[in-house]
Amino acid sequence: GADRAKNVLILMSDTGGGHRASAEAIRDAFKMEFGDEYRIFVKDVWKEYTGWPLNDMENQYKFMVKHVQLWSVAFHGTSPRWIHGVYLAAIAAFYAKEVEAGLMEYKPDIIISVHPLMQHIPLWVLKWQGLQKKVIFVTVITDLNTCHRTWFHPGVKRCYCPSEEVSKRALLDGLEENQVRVFGLPVRPSFARAVLNKDDLRVELELDPVLPSVLLMGGGEGMGPVKKTAKALAESLFDKETGKPMGQMVVICGRNKALASSLESLEWKIPVKIRGFETQMQKWMGACDCIITKAGPGTIAEALIRGLPIILNDYIPGQEKGNVPYVVGNGAGVFTRSPKETARIVAGWFSTNADELKKMSENALKLAQPEAVFDIVRDIHELAGQRGPLADVPYVLTQSFSSLI
Ligand code: UDP
Repeated sequence: GADRAKNVLILMSDTGGGHRASAEAIRDAFKMEFGDEYRIFVKDVWKEYTGWPLNDMENQYKFMVKHVQLWSVAFHGTSPRWIHGVYLAAIAAFYAKEVEAGLMEYKPDIIISVHPLMQHIPLWVLKWQGLQKKVIFVTVITDLNTCHRTWFHPGVKRCYCPSEEVSKRALLDGLEENQVRVFGLPVRPSFARAVLNKDDLRVELELDPVLPSVLLMGGGEGMGPVKKTAKALAESLFDKETGKPMGQMVVICGRNKALASSLESLEWKIPVKIRGFETQMQKWMGACDCIITKAGPGTIAEALIRGLPIILNDYIPGQEKGNVPYVVGNGAGVFTRSPKETARIVAGWFSTNADELKKMSENALKLAQPEAVFDIVRDIHELAGQRGPLADVPYVLTQSFSSLI
């Protein structure tokens, strides 16, 4: 009947940490806003239901971003629509049956894609199943600026863009005004709505209570020049005249275990905390005064909410490049690839240049969009309401999608 909970299937892939973080943000916001009205499934349908290359995206992505030249070719080489169209069509045909089974298992009333490669194939499946009109399909883009064109599909009900820049690209790529909404990047509610006190957090996380603190990280995979930067900071934040540290450092290595253990084997002149993959990023960010990171959209959006000035020290070519002008142009941070320069800037912020740190922190807070994820789920809820009692999607597989091709 119309009263049953609606099923929401969120399609993500563990390439980096950002897509999962966005997917979980949306799931948590649904729960907070609408409780039992929705049943949410976060799934990597590719990994669970297909074979190579789709089930191996995680490793291919890791391999390619480590060899940035390759990723650059992959990103820009697949930009023309006919190229990725043909590629995805071939894969769709090959895995049709499995993907179809994967999607149908959850009997979704609503499908939310938070991945650039999860528009085309699911939308074909819906079309072939005659469910296009019955299932609400929306895309939530998780790149702040220069995103790949596979994000944009004219067949979606909504395309949620994190910034005006992305919405312009969407419109240029053929989406209609009424499909596009700009609310911001979805950030986990535990982050966005947390009421945190820096002093308490420092006690809880066993940090020095008074020394200013810099957070150093490199996305979910711990990428970028983390080790060199840590070493340079240990030098610049140690006051040779007094023989005392003028700052402390937290290094979050994410899933990069080699990085964590290599840092742990070193001796440090200043207080240092080295951590692996943390599940409470809001606390670490809340305890620190600035952040150094590659230009990952998730990390940037979170740092802005916490009002942390950002030093960007790296970016993945293609989708992350545009995040640099987004931060720097809005006065919320700086870009430098040099670990020495990074260390010099932080030392300045923690001593003679404290005014700049404060100004950038204010600018960061102005850019922050902690409510974005709630705006997105409310809009989806409204769409679901307009459908009326859409509850009874006929999930009887009358005609197999795979038998058509
Ligand atoms: N993250 C985390 N724990 C860690 C390291 C990273 O939860 O130890 C989260 C981080 O808070 C952010 C995401 O992983 O939400 C990283 O996303 P981003 O877009 O910055 O970069 P990606 O890893 O996707 O390249």
